[in-house]
Amino acid sequence: MLEISNLTHTYGSGPSAHHAIDGLSLSVAEGELLCIVGPSGCGKSTLLRSIAGLIKPTGGQIAIGGRTVTKTPDDLAVVFQDYSRSLFPWMTVADNVAMPLRRRTMDKARRRAAAEEALESVGLAGAGKKYPFQLSGGMQQRVSIARALAYRPTLMLMDEPFGSVDAQTREDLEDLVLQVRGHHTMTIVLITHDIDESVYVGDRVVVLSKAPAHVVGDLKVDLPAP
Ligand code: ADP
Ligand code: ADP
Repeated sequence: MLEISNLTHTYGSGPSAHHAIDGLSLSVAEGELLCIVGPSGCGKSTLLRSIAGLIKPTGGQIAIGGRTVTKTPDDLAVVFQDYSRSLFPWMTVADNVAMPLRRRTMDKARRRAAAEEALESVGLAGAGKKYPFQLSGGMQQRVSIARALAYRPTLMLMDEPFGSVDAQTREDLEDLVLQVRGHHTMTIVLITHDIDESVYVGDRVVVLSKAPAHVVGDLKVDLPAP
């Protein structure tokens, strides 16, 4: 469902040019949970922003469902590492989760019900009336994940989604992703610098070189379901 062919990304030009991605090719099948792992600064976020249509590749092609990405696709949700900057502080948790659903043709009551259901699925039933600042970091990240899930994306991109939480919360959130994935059919691309996490969460792990990033390893993981 996702095809990346010979992608390059260069920031700047001339002597100050910085090559972040160089000749990266990758296909992701529908329903796959692919983890992309690589050293810090190797170009992972650049790759994810390119897939999301947030930056334009300087070379090569990205296609989702056979269509070249030129802008952010409608059926895409992104979870960033920095939950504190992704939730709107002036909105309640429920309103944060329901907000993107305005893009769907859903009336207010259905949006609210979908938000509640998504919050429940991340273990935050009853937290809808709170504001983000009233929740711990791990809980705020659950809200970000709930928001992505409520949208029912075809493709979910996660950029170091557990990078800013403590070790226990991290394990809980890893299990949460595995759990929600059992309930919804979607393709997930999750970026991490943690090889253990990638093997635990992913059904396939793609390893990137240091910058400029290209694929140096691609392995199937076959762990029993938790
Ligand atoms: P990662 O996510 O793997 O840590 P990034 O994709 O954020 O890596 O960055 C890859 C490289 O590109 C890094 O060397 C980084 O400094 C550089 N880079 C990232 N964003 C920009 C930018 N907007 N302008 C110039 N260089 C950038
Ligand atoms: P459909 O998917 O055919 O619209 P459903 O009854 O499965 O019918 O869902 C109704 C709406 O509620 C969906 O559009 C979806 O956005 C939302 N929804 C359902 N289940 C969830 C869930 N677990 N998390 C978030 N939103 C959900």
